[in-house]
Amino acid sequence: MDRNIDNRINMGWNFDNSYIHLPEKFYAKQNPTPVASPKLIILNKTLAESLGLDIHGLQSRDGTAILAGNSIPEGALPIAQAYAGHQFGHFTMLGDGRALLLGEQITPQGERFDIQLKGSGRTPYSRGGDGRAALGPMLREYIISEAMNGLGIPTTRSLAVVTTGESIIRETVLPGAILTRIAASHIRVGTFQYISAYGRVEELRLLAEYTLQRHFPNVAADENRYFRLLQEVIKMQAELIARWQLVGFVHGVMNTDNMAISGESIDFGPCAFMDTYDPATVFSSIDHYGRYAYGNQPKIAAWNLARFAEALLPLIHSDQDEALRIANEEILGFDTIYYGLWLNGMRAKLGIFNEKTEDESIITELLSIMQKYDADFTNTFRGLTIDELCGMELFDTSEFAQWKEKWKTRLTKQQESKEESKQLMRDNNPAIIPRNHRVEEALDAAVKQEDYSLMEKLLEVLSNPYAYSVEQDEYSTLPPPSTRPYRTFCGT
Ligand code: AMP
Ligand code: MG
Repeated sequence: MDRNIDNRINMGWNFDNSYIHLPEKFYAKQNPTPVASPKLIILNKTLAESLGLDIHGLQSRDGTAILAGNSIPEGALPIAQAYAGHQFGHFTMLGDGRALLLGEQITPQGERFDIQLKGSGRTPYSRGGDGRAALGPMLREYIISEAMNGLGIPTTRSLAVVTTGESIIRETVLPGAILTRIAASHIRVGTFQYISAYGRVEELRLLAEYTLQRHFPNVAADENRYFRLLQEVIKMQAELIARWQLVGFVHGVMNTDNMAISGESIDFGPCAFMDTYDPATVFSSIDHYGRYAYGNQPKIAAWNLARFAEALLPLIHSDQDEALRIANEEILGFDTIYYGLWLNGMRAKLGIFNEKTEDESIITELLSIMQKYDADFTNTFRGLTIDELCGMELFDTSEFAQWKEKWKTRLTKQQESKEESKQLMRDNNPAIIPRNHRVEEALDAAVKQEDYSLMEKLLEVLSNPYAYSVEQDEYSTLPPPSTRPYRTFCGT
C-alpha cells in the first residue's frame, strides 16, 4: 500500500481524528484491505466540492485508489468503530464489520464530517462476514441517501462508489464495490448501548461528553447536560421520523445500531418508499412480523430511544430510581412531540397554515379513504397540489368529493391566499420519490450492463423533487401491478 500517494496531488483532504481520543475500547485500528482493480463508478461532485475536495483529484488514479481503500490519504487514521445494538429486538455485539472510518474531514466552512468506506474489508468486528459489499446495494444506498437529501430530510450522504474488480459471493456471484459515506458522525444508539453494557461509567461519560461537544454544543456546558442530551436526541428523532412518515419512507431495519445520534437517516438497506398508502407496508424480506412496517416507525423510534435512555441512566441521576423516573417521562413525551410535528407536516401538505381542531379529522379522513381505495401516497398529494384529480379511483369517489368540500372550506379559514397555500403544498409534497421500479431499473442497467445513464438521470430528477418539472412527469407513474408486492433484500 502506497501511503505517500496523496502527496503528489492535493485532493483537499483535511483530516482530524477526534474519535481516536476516546478510549481504545471504542474502536479498533484497521487498514482497508486493498482490492484488485478499482474503478470509479460515480462521484458526487456537488458534495465533494462542499467538503473542500478536488473533483479532478478524486477522479484520478490516486483518488480512486483512496476511495477503494488501496491507499490512505495523508492525515487519515482508519478505524472500525465498536457498537452493539438491538437487532429485531435482540441485543448483540456488532461494530463496523465491513466499514472503516478514515477520519473526519474539516470542510472549508469549518464543519466536521466522517468519511467512511463501506465494503473495505474485514475488521475485528466482522464476525462471519467477508467485510465486503456488492455493487447493487451500494448504488442503492447512493440513490436513496441522495434522494433523501433532495427531499430535505437529514441523512448521511454518498460521495462515491467504486467497483473493486473482485467478485463477492452471496446467493450468487456479484461485483464487489465500496461506497464512501459521509455523515455528521457514526455515533449510534448502539454505541451508547455498547459502552453501557461492556464499559465503565467513566467511559460512558466520555462518550456522552464527546457527543455533546460534537452535536449539541449549545447544551454541552449545562449542569444537567446528560439529561439535555437525551432530550435533544428525542426531539431530533421525532423530527426525523415525522419527515419519513410525511413522504412515505420505510427504513426497513430500524435496529438501534441503525439510529444515529446526529438525527440523520442512516443505513439504507432494505428501505423503500411506499406507493399505495397502507400503514402495514413492509418491504424488507427479513421483516417477517412487520416490526418495522411504515405505521410502526414512530413506535419503534420510541422503543429505540428507551434503549438510549437506559444506557444513559447512570449519568442522568446518582439515584437510579430517580434517573429512571426522569428518563421515562422524557420517553413518554416522544409521542406528543412526534405527533405535533407530523400534524403540522400534514397541514402543510394540505396547504394549511394555521391550527384548527378540525384539522385532525380532515387529515385522518383523507388517509382512511386513501387506504380504502388503494391510493398512491405521493400521487394523492401531488394531485391535490397541482389540481390534477384524475387517474386514480380515489378521486372519482363520492367520499373524496365530500372530503374535498370540507378541505376547501377549511382553506378559507386562514388569511393566506390560495396561491400561498398552493406554494406551501408544492414545498411539502414531492412531485416524485425514488419509486422502487425506477430504482430497480436503474440498478439493473448499472450492474448487468454497466450502463449508468438511467441512474444518473434518476439522481438528477431526484435532486429537486419539489420542482414539478416536465422531466419529472414520467417518474410519477406507478409500477405495473405484476411487480407488487415489492420486496427488498438486506443489501449485504
Ligand atoms: P447492517 O445490517 O448493514 O446494519 O449491518 C449489521 C452488522 O453486520 C454491522 O455490524 C455490519 O458491519 C455487519 N455486516 C454486514 N455485512 C457484513 C459483511 N459482509 N461482513 C462483515 N460484517 C458485515
Ligand atoms: Mg447498520
